[in-house]
Amino acid sequence: MTDRHQYEDLEATELFCPRCRRAQPVRKHLLLVLPTGNKYVYRCSVCAETVGEKTDNDAQAFEILG
Ligand SMILES: [Zn+2]
Repeated sequence: MTDRHQYEDLEATELFCPRCRRAQPVRKHLLLVLPTGNKYVYRCSVCAETVGEKTDNDAQAFEILG
């Protein structure tokens, strides 16, 4: 057991990378801007492997771009 604060995955900063075979810091890249929200991918900052993705439901950025 640990008293460490448990972060929600709103912003992933470290994910398991299958290529590195360990958790690595990740970088968030905007992949697609959709009317329903934005799609992001997380890439390993070491080898650039895609290690995760996320779609938010915030359409505001789309309106700004449109
Ligand atoms: Zn990696």
